Amino acid sequence: MNPAAASAGSTLRLRPGDQPLPHEGGEPVQERLIGMIKERRTLGIQRYGRPLETFNGRNAVQDALDEALDLATYLTQVRMEQEARQKGVAQALSLHTADASGLCSTCRTQSPCPTRQALVAPHHLQGHAPTDGAR
Ligand SMILES: [Zn+2]
Repeated sequence: MNPAAASAGSTLRLRPGDQPLPHEGGEPVQERLIGMIKERRTLGIQRYGRPLETFNGRNAVQDALDEALDLATYLTQVRMEQEARQKGVAQALSLHTADASGLCSTCRTQSPCPTRQALVAPHHLQGHAPTDGAR
């Protein structure tokens, strides 16, 4: 964790309904974003012969609003798709739960079976992973 996050963590208070404070994760996001912005700049120069510049004859507020509406639409699509995936994962998890003898009720192998491990383990790649309450 970087020093700023560590000190922020010591002063922030969680309120009911807040998400948990972020913990150490996987890939750094801003580095990816910076690379994507550089790619967009290159694409813009290829398409329009120049990078995005001030006073370019376009209504930037309208462009931004149009893009924001598209963004909200795509984010809603992503959320809907995530919810559908989570529902499928939850259904699969319910089928791969240990019985009284400690075996997966579907695979009949020691629980957590490989299917359950695959559904639960890569949570850092899935965004919102189901919590693995039942083994
Ligand atoms: Zn199983």
